Amino acid sequence: MVQRFDPAAATAAYLAALTPAQHARAQAYTQGGHWLLLWGALAGVAVAWMILRTGVLPRVRGWVERTRSRPKLAVAAVVLVYAAMDFGLGLPWSVYSGWWRETQYGLTSQPLGGWFGEQLLSLPIVTVGLLVLMELVYLLIRRAPRTWWLWSGGVVGVFAVFVLVISPVVVDPLFNSYKPAPPGPVRDAIVAMAKANGVPSDKIYIYDGSRQSNRYTANVSGLFGTARIAMSDVMFKRDADLAEVKGVVGHEMGHYVEGHALRAAGELALLAFVGFFLIARLYPTVLRWTGAKGVGGLEDPAGYPVILIMITVMGLLATPLLNAITRIGESEADTFSLVHVNEPDGLATALVKTIEYRAATPSKLEEFLFYDHPSVGSRVRKAMDWKAAHPKPLIPAKAGTQIE
Ligand SMILES: [Zn+2]
Repeated sequence: MVQRFDPAAATAAYLAALTPAQHARAQAYTQGGHWLLLWGALAGVAVAWMILRTGVLPRVRGWVERTRSRPKLAVAAVVLVYAAMDFGLGLPWSVYSGWWRETQYGLTSQPLGGWFGEQLLSLPIVTVGLLVLMELVYLLIRRAPRTWWLWSGGVVGVFAVFVLVISPVVVDPLFNSYKPAPPGPVRDAIVAMAKANGVPSDKIYIYDGSRQSNRYTANVSGLFGTARIAMSDVMFKRDADLAEVKGVVGHEMGHYVEGHALRAAGELALLAFVGFFLIARLYPTVLRWTGAKGVGGLEDPAGYPVILIMITVMGLLATPLLNAITRIGESEADTFSLVHVNEPDGLATALVKTIEYRAATPSKLEEFLFYDHPSVGSRVRKAMDWKAAHPKPLIPAKAGTQIE
């Protein structure tokens, strides 16, 4: 006799794996995070405004071009000086939001020194990336003053693809060590899944994510030849069973097979296009509001902080849109996992472990505005609905006891 399966009751049972106190803590962390978006944007604008008001950047530009016009060098000097000042002035905020708060919620065990060392390591990487991007944008502003925003959107798209391709090879290994999944039943299951879904099976790694964060997580990064699926060792420190690993890896394979990274780069290019259009139109007005002295038109690199202020504000306003775009891909990846791996209980068990940093049952409005993944409550319910509609021939007695 097959017992009637109730998806709503099964979902409630999964969510009850956490105590009410744990749920409350997750909610405090998640909702505090929404406010952090606003405070972070205000901190960013404040820092940019302070740097503008010091008048340092027009002096740097003037010094570089003292004898003759050297626009590329002036852009480089301004971007570098800005990066250093921004890092220093923004440090209190980044220590609070990036380290102190995570520590308070038990989401990281990394000492402050280790965290700061990684900030120092990423500073030159991010700065070089921004420098290349801004050289291209300012070149377009100088060469095509009327249509630069159009070309710049394309530049951002190509740049995003480039960053995606090189990150797993050049950047990620600087912060973590990636090892192929060790031999055993877990790897055998993953290799079989990879083969069944047309994913290269030698590209599945475990990395020491627990160094930076106690978050239970996995990801796909890279593109074309560099694409790979990586699972944080946190997954294996909390006795992940086979069904759970399969459910999670099935989700990540969904991102890979459906080409979500490339799609995201295209969407970013479209948004950049709109953003640059607005910057082209509104720059003079915003420059006037800042009250900055000695800063010229859009082609003057000393106005770089004005552009950053506009990007920060637009980014904040576009948060619901950006989240909706990401949420669609996440929902598709869950569906892929259910359809191709069919481990609804494994997926649900894994999802429950993410609740501590992404509260399970937000209001519809909160989910719409702030969630870049569908809420765990609705994801588990979807898995349970799937389970109800696709009973396995032999329903295992409890989740995860089924070995193939
Ligand atoms: Zn995902």
